[in-house]
Amino acid sequence: MGNVGAKEIPVLLSPEGLRIDGRRLDELRPLTIQAGALHQADGSAFVEWGANKVLAAVYGPREVHPRHLQQNHKAVIQCRYNMAAFSVDERKRPGLDRRSQEISKVIGEAFESVVFAEEYPRTSIDIYIEVLQANAGTRCAGLVAASVALADAGIPMVDLLPAVAVGKVGGAIALDLKKEEDNFGEADLPMALVPQSGRLVLLQMEGHMTEAELAQALDLGVKGCREIYEKMKQALRERYAIGPMAGASS
Ligand code: UDP
Repeated sequence: MGNVGAKEIPVLLSPEGLRIDGRRLDELRPLTIQAGALHQADGSAFVEWGANKVLAAVYGPREVHPRHLQQNHKAVIQCRYNMAAFSVDERKRPGLDRRSQEISKVIGEAFESVVFAEEYPRTSIDIYIEVLQANAGTRCAGLVAASVALADAGIPMVDLLPAVAVGKVGGAIALDLKKEEDNFGEADLPMALVPQSGRLVLLQMEGHMTEAELAQALDLGVKGCREIYEKMKQALRERYAIGPMAGASS
């Protein structure tokens, strides 16, 4: 490693195998999920994941806008991922850029694989994801938030959709990359899992890794998703007070 212009590349992995924030390779950043964070939406969730702060709001099933997108045999799932201008170090130009359009598309498609859209023909299920603070992995945080928001809205689904980005940093496969690891690492691989079936419904990759590393990364990502899945279910349990504490809270 060396210098890129005046910018020093940080040491991403210590000789002891610890990462820039002291995490082990298979460790997630702290994750908290609040289901039902908004009153106006049909369903909502707020996710704080490391330094990411992401809000998701779900509306519907409701009338389709624009009308020509309406489908006679199923609901259309429309997703809008947006990054606030103040969410990143260098102010982001407001509005939908190519990156936001791409992320909105892949998240919407991931949900198309799990939502029982045929139950609501000629309607729209609208998912809004607002990134208030970004530190890598925001599409995954958005998926997690939107998934809990969909469940909060009572939309029938095969399963929740946990998601996480795995990558390669300092030559090693690591779970849940933060900003420096995303920027200076060798690869970034966001994924979303249907826990029941083990099927991946989102898988993207930037950078390079060998076939063996890819297999290791997928394995680590699936394990990470299963950990996140438990937290998503817990957030919904807390919202609806299911389980031993039912009726105990106000
Ligand atoms: N980012 C930024 N400005 C932008 C887009 C992204 O600073 O216009 C940062 C932000 O912290 C984001 C990270 O780069 O989380 C990684 O972006 P990427 O496109 O890989 O998506 P993400 O990892 O957030 O899903």
